[in-house]
Amino acid sequence: MSSTERPVRVRFAPSPTGKLHVGGARTAIYNWAFARATGGTFILRIDDTDPTRSTEENTQVILRAMRWLGLDWDEGPEVGGDFGPYFQTERLSNYRAAAERMVAEGNAYYCFCSPEKLAADREAAQARKDTFQGYQGTCRHLDPAEAQARVDAGEPYTIRIKVPDDRGDVIVHDAVHGDVVFNAKELDDFIIFRSDGTPTYNFATVVDDAEMGITHIIRGDDHLSNTPRQVMVYEALGAPVPTFAHISMILGADGKKLSKRHGATSVEEYRDAGYLSDAFVNYLALLGWAPDGESTVISRERLASEFSLDHVSKNPAIMDPKKLDFINGEYLHAMSDREFADEVLIPELHSHDLEPVGECLHDEAWYDLLAAALKPRTTLGPDVVAQAAFLYEDDADLEYDEKAVKKWLAKAGAADALDASAKALTALDDWSPAAIEAALDPLPEQLGMGKGKVFQPIRVAVTGSAASPGIGETLALAGKEHVLARIARAKELAQ
Ligand code: GLU
Repeated sequence: MSSTERPVRVRFAPSPTGKLHVGGARTAIYNWAFARATGGTFILRIDDTDPTRSTEENTQVILRAMRWLGLDWDEGPEVGGDFGPYFQTERLSNYRAAAERMVAEGNAYYCFCSPEKLAADREAAQARKDTFQGYQGTCRHLDPAEAQARVDAGEPYTIRIKVPDDRGDVIVHDAVHGDVVFNAKELDDFIIFRSDGTPTYNFATVVDDAEMGITHIIRGDDHLSNTPRQVMVYEALGAPVPTFAHISMILGADGKKLSKRHGATSVEEYRDAGYLSDAFVNYLALLGWAPDGESTVISRERLASEFSLDHVSKNPAIMDPKKLDFINGEYLHAMSDREFADEVLIPELHSHDLEPVGECLHDEAWYDLLAAALKPRTTLGPDVVAQAAFLYEDDADLEYDEKAVKKWLAKAGAADALDASAKALTALDDWSPAAIEAALDPLPEQLGMGKGKVFQPIRVAVTGSAASPGIGETLALAGKEHVLARIARAKELAQ
């Protein structure tokens, strides 16, 4: 049965040797979206066979990152499934059994060549200027009974796959790269089991993918060169070869592989910087895939219904932090004020220990007003902290931005503007943004001054800086008593 006729089963198989990086996250997103779009099954498998670099802590970090990304898996750690275990270290007996079956069926053989012999063979081939300098096939033709006797006697051995003599080119039908041709001769009778009794990556991964019924392998194109060897293992196991889709690397703006030099590389760094999961998934999904070449905001639902491999680009994708910020902003701006208050504003303020000062009433309506004022000016959640900080200072402690003072307070007319506004505001009972604006509106004409010259000194007086939301909202949020106290304090700096 070809892989296209089987129900879709895909897997994301991270090695827990570090955190989940953006490249791995995008691979996970594509596997998840492909499973959802085809009504298939998404499997998470932990490839933890590298004992020196795999850690339980990294596994937990990866699981947390997957959960934060909202990539729910149907089988795997914590959820189980019929094809487990889902940790490679718990599958060693499966690899052993598969390798022994291959030996018994003549598709693999025991090799007793020592590292020294292999090195000497390679040197001799180099000296002869042979085009082929790989394994010389020394143990390929050993009598199986004799080989078994040597194994039983305790002689160290590896297990090698027997690449059939007549195996022509290996053609990998890749959904992204098209047909990629590899010369089987160059593949060598490669090792599937090391002398220390551990399976090699190319072997373990295929045993797992075959036993788990994986139909499509979507992964980074750094694995394309491993694929012909893996195809040989499928053939030797008599298992159907899945469809491969090798996706491009993610590069930094300089065209080099994404690394620390370019900034954040792990999913948790983006989470901690305040990006929204939906926006981050949206952005990564579009790094190499596009449903129509136009949309920049694609909901998770749309991704999960429209994702297809034929729209995946084989060109390297460039990480563009500005575009990520833009998309994050789009998601924030699409929230209702209430959502923005509950999901972004209040958690950010609390996590930065911004607590109400004095008797300042921070009720739901106040947060709604603050949300409405800040949302359009926010690209990333933590942006709200600096913008709202003036609301959390004692009047006497508010710090004034030096430039703003110089430009707007230390200017002729500023004291008059502050006096007039204090007067107008003192008389005001309705402390709503609209009423405040209505009270201040006539002042420029009354004073014969431009709007900026009147309103900017008030803004600097109340917020300490020259940039804030609309003057009505700003003053309403600060509260009447604080506004008047701050205007009085700012007069000392004004001319
Ligand atoms: N554990 C491998 C990796 O993280 C999986 C590769 C694959 O998808 O086959 O690179």
